[in-house]
Amino acid sequence: MQELSIVLKERRLEMKGPKGLESLELAQNYSLTPLSRFLFSQLGAMFLVSPYVEPRIRTNFQICPEIRSLFAGMYESLQQAPPRFFSSDDQPWQLPTLREPSLQRAAVAHGGGKDSLRNIWWAEEEYGRENVLAVHVSGLNRAVAKREHEYCDRQQKELGFHNFKFVELKNGSRSAGHEIMRARDFFLLALIIPDALEFGASTVITEGYAETKENEPFSGKVENMRFFNQILSRLKIPCQVAWRDREEVYAVKDLLIHRSGWLDHVANCFTPAKYFGVYRSCWERNAPSLRLYDSQCGSCPKCRTVNLARILYDKRTTDNLALSDAQYFLANTKSWMGRNRVKFADFIDGSFGEEFARACQRYSR
Ligand SMILES: [Zn+2]
Repeated sequence: MQELSIVLKERRLEMKGPKGLESLELAQNYSLTPLSRFLFSQLGAMFLVSPYVEPRIRTNFQICPEIRSLFAGMYESLQQAPPRFFSSDDQPWQLPTLREPSLQRAAVAHGGGKDSLRNIWWAEEEYGRENVLAVHVSGLNRAVAKREHEYCDRQQKELGFHNFKFVELKNGSRSAGHEIMRARDFFLLALIIPDALEFGASTVITEGYAETKENEPFSGKVENMRFFNQILSRLKIPCQVAWRDREEVYAVKDLLIHRSGWLDHVANCFTPAKYFGVYRSCWERNAPSLRLYDSQCGSCPKCRTVNLARILYDKRTTDNLALSDAQYFLANTKSWMGRNRVKFADFIDGSFGEEFARACQRYSR
């Protein structure tokens, strides 16, 4: 296959791809405006194309020159020449004149995890609680969609957010795994920006790049997000993407110090369901006073990061923590680090390693 054919029908994009029909569809409650329809079509098309990067793209709508340059960047990152575009509709998009929101407000792209919760905390400090909108796009990462949605629901109820919005996406694309990052973050922002502007926010805060790897796909790289911001300006869309770089373990530390209790409602664990219970009961047996959050297996890198920060910075954890349980956690983690030194080298040698050394010193007696 050399050509991908994409059709826009109201709130649905369909692509005939090499593996059959793939689609993206917005729920009925998503507000379709000229802006939201434009952004959905442009970045949705890029998301659908991203697993295949075929040389020709045929559409029943125009892909504007600015977004074509983003496509070209993605293709170039995969050592491909820019695609050629063919459209059966030669009408260019007419975007209404959009005014810069006058309020000091921000939206946060909320995945349900600790990095975006940290962004919500930070934005609340910066803009005031009532001026922060959290938006969760549900369905984008299909493998974890159900769990993310469940925890976002729980956070909305338990943490008393003023403004929380779900964008429901029916995702029939085959873009998945690490490759999903070729276009995912741009599509995610495309779905959030209309809500942000509607709320009066000219900034959308997203996860930072403190721990980005060299081989990170196109939309996960900071220089490409800067390029995306330039494109928004050129299109006269009065919204910019912002981020705060903070390593994971310090993001957890910030939350524990400033929003103690929020992490109880975070889904962040890596472990597949079939091992989850086994790991968990092992921790319950060997370190019962290190009480795991509901979402934690205790053994994956994510859970270890959170628990390492907890035994250093969370009074609610340390007040009830037996010294022997802290020592069990550290000994177990030391042996895990030994086994995984190659697999998680960047992670272990970075901030995690530093904080681990600090914890070992603290609990050495
Ligand atoms: Zn885990």
